[in-house]
Amino acid sequence: MKHRLFLLLLGLLLGCARPYETPVAREPLPTPERWYIILDAGHGGFDAGATGTDTGVKESDLNLKVALLVQTALEEAGARVLMTRTDAGALADTKRADMSRRAALLLSEGADAAVSIHMNKFADRRVRGPMAYYQAGADAGQALATSVIDSLTDALALKPRLPNPGNNFVTRVPVCPAVLVECGFLSHPEEERLLQDERYQKTIAEAIARGVMAFLEG
Ligand SMILES: [Zn+2]
Repeated sequence: MKHRLFLLLLGLLLGCARPYETPVAREPLPTPERWYIILDAGHGGFDAGATGTDTGVKESDLNLKVALLVQTALEEAGARVLMTRTDAGALADTKRADMSRRAALLLSEGADAAVSIHMNKFADRRVRGPMAYYQAGADAGQALATSVIDSLTDALALKPRLPNPGNNFVTRVPVCPAVLVECGFLSHPEEERLLQDERYQKTIAEAIARGVMAFLEG
């Protein structure tokens, strides 16, 4: 009898308790964005960039794939990311107009870093590996590029290499530290294949994201 009474009371308690639970799904508290990063997938649309020597794969398509994976990695770490493009198209119909729109995005106020994703190509098919370009003379850009290339060579178990000074639109325009990453060579037979492999793209993308965050945390 006592047992039954207990069960009855328990049933009433549970039955009563339920209606008072909030029926709406609880949203997690918004976490403050740690960083604001501009992420540029190089080329697009009418401008395919380089093409794979053996497969004819378009650099613009690979840039977008890697950039979207970098975006995911950065956002998962709490960053806000502004993409210059999120589909295969260019930002405009002409190179000039595309560059002008890209420049406006690269100058987005409050950005902590700008990262442009590209694939390389070279006449000597033995040349391989990632490279990171900074705007010559930009100390913060050099530090960012160093952090990114260190992270990439580490993730790919390659010998350490220095970042390269350069003079590229995407590193020259931003006021924040900027890096142009050449993920690998579409002219190197093995790398051309690897750069089209989803797992390899993810390894590279996550290494780029880690390198950018290591610089920002520095
Ligand atoms: Zn390119």
